[in-house]
Amino acid sequence: MTFNLPDLPYAQDALAPHMSEQTLNFHHGKHHKGYVDKLNDAVKGTDYDGMELLDVARRAHEKGDTAVFNNAAQAWNHAFFWRCMSPATPVEPQGPLAEKIAATFGSLPQLRTRFIAEGMARFGSGWVWLVEGTDGVLDVVSTANADLPQTAGLKPLLTCDLWEHAYYLDYQNARQAFLEVFFDHLVDWDFAATCLNTQGDSNILAA
Ligand code: MN
Repeated sequence: MTFNLPDLPYAQDALAPHMSEQTLNFHHGKHHKGYVDKLNDAVKGTDYDGMELLDVARRAHEKGDTAVFNNAAQAWNHAFFWRCMSPATPVEPQGPLAEKIAATFGSLPQLRTRFIAEGMARFGSGWVWLVEGTDGVLDVVSTANADLPQTAGLKPLLTCDLWEHAYYLDYQNARQAFLEVFFDHLVDWDFAATCLNTQGDSNILAA
């Protein structure tokens, strides 16, 4: 089985000016594609061949197969990240997601503050996430490099890529400006709500 680079769920210029066509062209067409290609090379003819992407990441994490884990996790993280954004003007979270945000953080602006602060506190490359714990309580966490919340038993609802390749062309070194624009203009809260309602995180990208 060969892993495929998933299409972007919108045109490469659809998120401009918040995220430029050039950024999406390089980020999806070069960086994301590179992880998928390296993963295919790494799993060919191994016990990983034929497994679901997230299962490859989990198993490689357990076994300490760093190269397989890094490429599998980055392939999953990027597929998830594209789904977390939409060209549409963001509509505030609705229903159970809105209730959980209010219960955990107090309000959407307070979640925004936490999310941006966590993204700024992550030194070097990684990801910032809104997650649901096994107790049903939401949290904001960040992970280093390729790591993803599922390795800690957390369910991802939303993520923003903190690698410089995600923002350098548009925002240079200004990670905070990128995080603010992401939260204010790009987040697809309907997708986050879908993740909250989906049982089993292997199904999230198929939702
Ligand atoms: Mn990236």
